[in-house]
Amino acid sequence: MLHARDGKFIDNGVEGGDDGEDGYDKATEEFIKVITYAASQDNIPFMSIKVTGIVRFSLLEKLDASMHNSEGTLMNRYNQIVQSLNKEEKEEWERAVKRMLQICTVANEKKIGVLVDAEESWIQDPVDALTLSMMDTFNKTKAVVYNTIQLYRHDRLSFLKDCFKAATKRNFILGAKLVRGAYMDKERKRAASMGYPSPIQPDKNSTDRDYDEAVSFSIDNLGTLATIVATHNEESNLLATQLLDSNKLAHDHPHIHFSQLYGMSDNITFNLAKEGFSVSKYLPFGPIKDVVPYLMRRAQENSSVSGQTGRELGLIKKELKRRKG
Ligand SMILES: Cc1cc2nc3c(=O)[nH]c(=O)nc-3n(C[C@H](O)[C@H](O)[C@H](O)COP(=O)(O)OP(=O)(O)OC[C@H]3O[C@@H](n4cnc5c(N)ncnc54)[C@H](O)[C@@H]3O)c2cc1C
Repeated sequence: MLHARDGKFIDNGVEGGDDGEDGYDKATEEFIKVITYAASQDNIPFMSIKVTGIVRFSLLEKLDASMHNSEGTLMNRYNQIVQSLNKEEKEEWERAVKRMLQICTVANEKKIGVLVDAEESWIQDPVDALTLSMMDTFNKTKAVVYNTIQLYRHDRLSFLKDCFKAATKRNFILGAKLVRGAYMDKERKRAASMGYPSPIQPDKNSTDRDYDEAVSFSIDNLGTLATIVATHNEESNLLATQLLDSNKLAHDHPHIHFSQLYGMSDNITFNLAKEGFSVSKYLPFGPIKDVVPYLMRRAQENSSVSGQTGRELGLIKKELKRRKG
């Protein structure tokens, strides 16, 4: 069983790398080293990867745009668009798929879960399709690969349900890490400047409603679905624990896991661990230049989302006062 005090999953913070094919190969080796390290510890159940660390961002962008302009299910559109790439781009994409396969193969052998991060909506379709195809290969009897669902997007609750249908039909376990989403301002600005409807929910309440519905849908389907409740939101964490109890599901059910970012919401992490839930901290690492964009988003989030940060500061002040006696 995992203990919050030292349970972590590690994220090689490399994103949107611009080092070309050699850089993507090196990143793949790095991901594999991380998996090997995680497997040598008894408290690191997952590692996390960004597809922009192993393939050119602009190729993902091109695939996404073409997928948007074609009809059919996600996987049909994906297969059709990959076939229509020119020879060079097709080979480039095949190298990316091979890297992903290498990473998932080692993770599967070493029993470490692979969490594929969600990034900007304008590259997400090929990331989703690639991740689902990995689940189809590796998640037949246990959840190895997880996709990330950003519930600040108004289309993601139905996307989660569609993925679940596809998983049931093809007989694999759907791995779904549930987050609210970290690129809100960037998404809204791009949509406004390019004149398309924003993919983001109209307000925070709508994001919260869909997030909690996704938690509830996932817990209702824990047999064929494995979920990670990745949030600092106290209400959503509480809801998940209440639903597990009302459905008489074990706190350490192998298909449910909780996670918070390292350095945030230890009050939630420790209380979940104390009640026997499987919980970890998400620990990004990497060269400063690669991790800075990630840290900048957290800083922005902490200044724009006063709720959780305010609560955390309040708790720290209270504890300081208690220690001073
Ligand atoms: C373990 C872990 C892994 C993560 N992985 C990813 C990832 O792969 N991809 C990713 O994008 N993010 C990821 N995140 C970050 C996550 O998406 C959130 O940005 C962060 O957790 C804050 O949301 P919350 O649920 O914790 O808290 P809350 O404070 O309840 O929610 C804040 C979030 O609500 C949403 N929101 C705020 N205001 C509004 C508004 N006006 N309208 C609509 N929505 C609004 C935004 O998404 C904002 O970040 C991860 C977080 C964790 C804990």
